Amino acid sequence: MPKILDGKKLAQEIELILQQAIESGLEVAKRPPGLAVLRVGNDPASGVYVNFKEKACDRIGVRSFAKHLKEDISLEELTETIKSLNQEKNIDGILLQLPLPSHLDEDALLSSIDPDKDADGLHPLNLGRLIKGEKGPRSCTPAGVMSLLERNQIKIEGKRAVVVGRSILVGKPMALMLEAANATVTIAHSRTKDLPSLTREADVLVVAAGKPYLIGKNDVSENCVVIDVGIHRLPPDQENMKELKKTKLCGDVKIFEIEDKVAAYSPVPGGVGPMTVTMLLANTVDRWQKHCGLPLTISHLLP
Ligand code: NAD
Repeated sequence: MPKILDGKKLAQEIELILQQAIESGLEVAKRPPGLAVLRVGNDPASGVYVNFKEKACDRIGVRSFAKHLKEDISLEELTETIKSLNQEKNIDGILLQLPLPSHLDEDALLSSIDPDKDADGLHPLNLGRLIKGEKGPRSCTPAGVMSLLERNQIKIEGKRAVVVGRSILVGKPMALMLEAANATVTIAHSRTKDLPSLTREADVLVVAAGKPYLIGKNDVSENCVVIDVGIHRLPPDQENMKELKKTKLCGDVKIFEIEDKVAAYSPVPGGVGPMTVTMLLANTVDRWQKHCGLPLTISHLLP
């Protein structure tokens, strides 16, 4: 098992598989896969993520239909936009970039996406499918974590897994996927008492708390595999104060403290982030194969 779980490299390998799947299906499908990415308002981080996703589509031959909608769009107007994308034949996947402006009802909007075009796997029907162990689009970040573990030959079965965070986006589906892979799973959250005593027992620790540097060397055991989902932009340090753009990224884990102690870890950047984008592409290509009546050759990439 490699010590550093390189998400960037693995994402490139999987993108190649997806690209080949597209090339070999184009003749029958007569159109490339289509992904609609909806961005609402001007959240700068969302702008960066949407940009990554569009570039990734370009790299592998997915046609991207990006829509940048105004901050004060009404729930009705946005629902209508989603419904028209549901009907659009050239679109196989729809992604609503989160977070949304506070006046919009996230649950209602995610539920209005056709579950069969749910590129982010967050529709209630697809979350239900995950609970039941049925195939379907999977939440991209936890799916990316599972792929990172599996492709690095990290055995999950029978292991003690701890997930820090219980969001619908990451923590909950993550716990379900680990449980489906036969780990014994504990979910920790902001009300959990004595977090270190739990995390120290983990063979696999997935940290998705959204708290920079929450986990350090006293919170992990030596045989632990640590997956850092968190992503934060640190304020510029003294050295680069003059160049505000030179900010550094960090995760929820103090990698510099644990890297010499644990069995393996995912870095930030270059760990879970690239895998999330790749799983979005995998969901989209899988939908495309289904919509175009092609053999489902890549569904094994989704947990
Ligand atoms: P969220 O804020 O919705 O959920 C955070 C969860 O962590 C909550 O369930 C909360 O109870 C728990 N939590 C908070 N503080 C805690 C503490 N001190 N101890 C234990 N639990 C605590 O966040 P999210 O959407 O799940 O995202 C989590 C992190 O992952 C964020 O940093 C986000 O930016 C990052 N993220 C990264 C990717 C990626 O592709 N790398 C994708 C999605 C989210």
